[in-house]
Amino acid sequence: MPDETILQLWVDGSRRETGSGASVYSVEPTIKVSKPLEIWPTALQAELVAISLAAEEISNKISNKKIIIYCDCKQALLSLGRYRCSSSLLEDCHNNLCEAAASNEITICWTKGHSGNKLYDMEDNLARKSAGEPPRSPEPFIAPTIRSLIELRKEETRKQFLTYWDRTPGCREAKEALMYPDPKRTDLFMRLSRKNLRLVIGLIISHWHLQKHLLNMGISNTDICRGCGEEEESAEHILCDCVALQTLRLSIFGDIQIRMSGIRAAQPGQI
Ligand SMILES: [Zn+2]
Repeated sequence: MPDETILQLWVDGSRRETGSGASVYSVEPTIKVSKPLEIWPTALQAELVAISLAAEEISNKISNKKIIIYCDCKQALLSLGRYRCSSSLLEDCHNNLCEAAASNEITICWTKGHSGNKLYDMEDNLARKSAGEPPRSPEPFIAPTIRSLIELRKEETRKQFLTYWDRTPGCREAKEALMYPDPKRTDLFMRLSRKNLRLVIGLIISHWHLQKHLLNMGISNTDICRGCGEEEESAEHILCDCVALQTLRLSIFGDIQIRMSGIRAAQPGQI
C-alpha cells in the first residue's frame, strides 16, 4: 500500500523556432530535469517526452508513493488514453508509465497553463530554457512527423524566396509597396474582382497606363503627369502625392498625401 503523502510532479514540453525541449519539475522530492530536443518534435511530442522523463525519474527515485503528474497538454493525455499506440514515442511513454506505476500509484492530471501557478511557471521556464539549448546527443531523438517535414520544407522555401527577393535587382516600386510577400495580404488581394486586381497589381509594379511606363514603352513622348502637369507620372506619384488626386486620397486614406508605407498598410480595395 502506498503511503498517503501525495507527491506532485510538473511536466512540460516547449516548442520554439530554435528547437524543442521537455522538462520535469518537483519540489519534494527535488527533481529538476530538462532535455533539449532538436527542431523536429511537435509540441505534442515534446509533451510526451516530458511525461516519459517524469516516469523515468519516478522509476529511478520513488517507490510506494501516491504521485500526481500535472501536464497542461490535453492532447497528450488523450493520446495516452487511447487503446492503440500510434507511435513508438507514445508506446515508450506508456511503457515508462507502466514501469513507474508498478511500484507507485500514479495519476496524470491536466492543469491549465499560465494560470499564475508558481510551480507551473517554474516548470514552464525550465522547458523553455531547454528548448533553446542544443541537443546533448545525436539527432534525431524522435522521428519527425510528415507534417513537421512539410512545415520545415515550406519554411526553407520561404527563406530561399526571400533571399532571392532581396538579391534580385529592380522591381523597386513593387518592393516598396509590398516590402515582403505576405500570404495573408495575398489572400486579401485575391478577394478583389479580376478588373480591380489587374489595376492594383499594375499600379504596384508600375506596369500600368502611366506616362512614365508609356514613355519607357515608346508609346508616349512625355512622362509628365496628366493630372497636375508638374511631375513624372509614376505609380508612386499617383498613389502618394499627385495634387490632382488630393481630394480622392483624403476621402480614402484620410490625408491628402501618403507615403509608400501607407500603401503597404492599406487594404487592397483602397489602392
Ligand atoms: Zn500629378
